[in-house]
Amino acid sequence: MNIVRTVAEMRAGVARARRQGGTVGLVPTMGAFHEGHLSLMRAARESNDLVVVSLFVNPTQFGPSEDLASYPRDEARDAAIAEQQGVDILFAPDAAEVYPDGFSTGIHVKGITEVLDGASRGAFHFDGVATVVTKLFGIVTPDDAYFGQKDAQQVLVVRRVVRDLNLAVRIRACPIVREPDGLAMSSRNVYLDADARRQAAALNRALDAAASVHEAGERDAATIVAAAARVLSHAGIRPDYLELRSAEDLSPLERVDRDALLAVAARVGAARLIDNHVLTITAEEGES
Ligand code: AMP
Repeated sequence: MNIVRTVAEMRAGVARARRQGGTVGLVPTMGAFHEGHLSLMRAARESNDLVVVSLFVNPTQFGPSEDLASYPRDEARDAAIAEQQGVDILFAPDAAEVYPDGFSTGIHVKGITEVLDGASRGAFHFDGVATVVTKLFGIVTPDDAYFGQKDAQQVLVVRRVVRDLNLAVRIRACPIVREPDGLAMSSRNVYLDADARRQAAALNRALDAAASVHEAGERDAATIVAAAARVLSHAGIRPDYLELRSAEDLSPLERVDRDALLAVAARVGAARLIDNHVLTITAEEGES
């Protein structure tokens, strides 16, 4: 595996693969690898000749009061893990390589970025994500790019950028990888002490409770959300948001008459965690 720090070297690596007729898969990450990241690397490895993993803690997607400085970083460990997964190139630029002096362009997606994490963290977050992902697509020119459904709103934002700007990349969304007690894996889980770690499992339990109510036939959004809210409240968690929205465009739903995203964000101990479930409707319901 090559560790590459510059855009020029990255482009040269891709050009070599392309000359041999190879396809390119990209997994964008901020490092501190866990099984969630590895699942994306494996998916990329299965379908592409050249697998590129980017490792870049993107400063523009963090707010001034967020955890940019303390975000877990261990490049040597990450490099060893990526190599084990058969990754070909680890693209680990520094911030000046990505944002040179005079950098002044940004990608802003309207609408779907104004709710959930966009409302809770601020518009800067998805502007930062959309801009850095668009740059990575420009640098790596992947055929396929792999994202986790853990960050469901991010997947929608990236898909919208690709559609609106006619980018020639397929977005592959991969399922959420969870700990045995259901907690969604996250680099930020290292912030949890033992008590907070136990408490954090309630996020997925809450989503499960809502999913059970939905599976039992309930279609009123407020009733479904209330089932999740009860579990959170019982665990002493006050969410930043707990909302049920259209899984396609994040518009609000009063009745679950189409695929819906139940999304939650909450501060648990020292970590801000997010999680989600997609509630799918049956084919017959979709037709009615
Ligand atoms: P991050 O390094 O946290 O920015 O995540 C890099 C990629 O891994 C993103 O596409 C995330 O959605 C994805 N990811 C993070 N956690 C998980 C998880 N538990 N399951 C699946 N994908 C994940």
